[in-house]
Amino acid sequence: MHEIRIANDLSEIVLEVASNEKLSVVSRVNITFGEMVQIVPEIFDFAFREAVRGSIASEAVVNFEIIKIKLKCRECGNVFNLNGSRFACQECNSSDLEIIAGKEMFVKSIEGE
Ligand SMILES: [Zn+2]
Repeated sequence: MHEIRIANDLSEIVLEVASNEKLSVVSRVNITFGEMVQIVPEIFDFAFREAVRGSIASEAVVNFEIIKIKLKCRECGNVFNLNGSRFACQECNSSDLEIIAGKEMFVKSIEGE
């Protein structure tokens, strides 16, 4: 359950940003994940809530944005979204692929006052 470690890391970032922006309460946290990170939103939400317990972000609503896995073929340069579990270029069938999106994991923005 890597959600717990990620929730701890991201909660620290949220509290740091909130402190830099001199917020007294964080109402919403927008988090972006790539599909490859394989976050279970329910578990993340639970772990995040534990991590921010007693802080100014304890009541914050957590919003998720999931970025689809995007691949680039090193053979022909084709860029495509991963379709099912078939890890091969849709144009030339090469499996020499570069992951260009889908590994993201960051706090996109926070809202509060
Ligand atoms: Zn290709």
